[in-house]
Amino acid sequence: MSKTSKVATNDWTAGAQSVPLRLIQLDKRFQARAQHSFDAVADYAEEWSAGGADALPPVRLVVIDNAPAAVVVDGWHRVMAAERAGFTSIRAEVLLGDTALAFREAAAANTKHGVRRTNADKRMSVGLMLQAKPTATAIEVAAHCGVTRQFVYDCMEKSRAAQSALADAQYTRDLEVARGSADDTAVDKLANTARQTRDIERVIACVVGAQAQLDALFEADSNRDDKNRSSVYVNKQAVEMDLRNAITSLRAAKPYSTCTVCGGVGCRACRNTGWLSVGQYKLLPRTQASGAENVL
Ligand SMILES: [Zn+2]
Repeated sequence: MSKTSKVATNDWTAGAQSVPLRLIQLDKRFQARAQHSFDAVADYAEEWSAGGADALPPVRLVVIDNAPAAVVVDGWHRVMAAERAGFTSIRAEVLLGDTALAFREAAAANTKHGVRRTNADKRMSVGLMLQAKPTATAIEVAAHCGVTRQFVYDCMEKSRAAQSALADAQYTRDLEVARGSADDTAVDKLANTARQTRDIERVIACVVGAQAQLDALFEADSNRDDKNRSSVYVNKQAVEMDLRNAITSLRAAKPYSTCTVCGGVGCRACRNTGWLSVGQYKLLPRTQASGAENVL
């Protein structure tokens, strides 16, 4: 089925074409499936053996930064099946771009065709989209990944919980180290900072909940007639922005570093807490750093 005689040089052009399999990479970073379906690979290989090159739709490839090989962003099963069917090339839609484009494309893969996605697949898709565009809104991610907004909120919540668990593990380790030094004040200080971090994170989680409630309110109203709507006087964009700002402010208020002035004993610079927020940390002139610098 090979029509081109492309060699491994940077001579890619965008668009529909036949691409030699040896120029195609299966890079796990751009894989939107939690697990391969070997049944699907076997089925596809059979379809190709029986029906020829046009039996299945073209795969989607991205050439990152003009690299010699292209990565698969949609069609892992088909590429594996083509190899199994003994093909040397495959029909593909080629896109030229960067890693962000590849993440973005992989996030949208399998939303309209292919093996039915599991929840784990959908979570991977959301993760890929957030890698492509960390500032994307839940609405944007939901539309791009073919999932509900609530699903995106749940993913965000889960990843926050995982991060918080990681932070807890780190503090626990620090606590043990501190205990080994038999320094009770150090132990108290670390336990205190862990609590202060968690307290702020709890408030952030509430604001994330408020974002979901706001969406739910408008969702419910969209199915009601005018006189039954609750949100008529709510300026959605303004409230959304306020909630986003609230999250930014709260994140900025979490413990970031041990106080560089007092080393954690407590002083005016750290308001007697022994730690600094990221803003306060950046505000302090470098000359005041006592060498006790310790990003939490
Ligand atoms: Zn201090």
